[in-house]
Amino acid sequence: MAEALECPVCLTLPEGEVHQCHEGHCYCADCWHRLDPRLCPECRQPVPQANRSRATERAIAALEWRCPHCGEATTRGTMAAHLDVCPQQPIPCTAAMAGCGWVGVLAEQVAHEAACPFAICLRMMAPLQVECQQLRAETQELKAECQELRGRVRALEGEVEEEEGGRRLMRRIDDDSGDDDDEAEAEAAVAGA
Ligand SMILES: [Zn+2]
Ligand SMILES: [Zn+2]
Ligand SMILES: [Zn+2]
Ligand SMILES: [Zn+2]
Repeated sequence: MAEALECPVCLTLPEGEVHQCHEGHCYCADCWHRLDPRLCPECRQPVPQANRSRATERAIAALEWRCPHCGEATTRGTMAAHLDVCPQQPIPCTAAMAGCGWVGVLAEQVAHEAACPFAICLRMMAPLQVECQQLRAETQELKAECQELRGRVRALEGEVEEEEGGRRLMRRIDDDSGDDDDEAEAEAAVAGA
C-alpha cells in the first residue's frame, strides 16, 4: 500500500501535496513543480501547473506510522505534530553553536544544560553581551554629541574673531579721532597763545 503511494520520481512518500497527470500518475509537489518539460514521466502527456490528488494525500495521511524515537503508534498525517512534542526526540544542547556536542532527549535537556560548561559560559556571557551592546550605543551617541559640540565651537570661534576684528577696527577709529582731538587742542593752544 505504502509503496504504491510513493512518488515514482524521488521514491519517497509525499508529505504534503500530491499532484497527478490526466492518467492518474501521482507525484510529490517538489517533483511535480520540477517537471521540465511539463510532461508526465510515465505517460509522456502534458501536465497542468497544478492538479492535486486529495484522495492520494488522504490515503498517505491515513497510513500507520510509528515514531522511531518513542515507539508511539500514530498516522503519517500527525507525524510532524508528534515529532514537535515527542519526549524521546533527540535534541542538541542550546550551546551547540558554542561547541557542545551533546545530543539527548527533551527530558534530559534541562539537567544537561545546568551542568554544561558551554551553556554556563553562554549564560554568563549573555548579560555582558547586552552591556557591551549598550556601551557601543552610548559611544555612538557621545561621538555624535562631540561632533555637534565641535561644530558649535568652530562657529563661536568665527564669531569671536569677527567681534575682535570689529573691536580692533573701532579702536583704530577711536585712536585716529583721538589724535585729531589732540591736534585740534594743540592748534587751539597755539592760536590762543
Ligand atoms: Zn517526488
Ligand atoms: Zn501520466
Ligand atoms: Zn515519538
Ligand atoms: Zn551542552
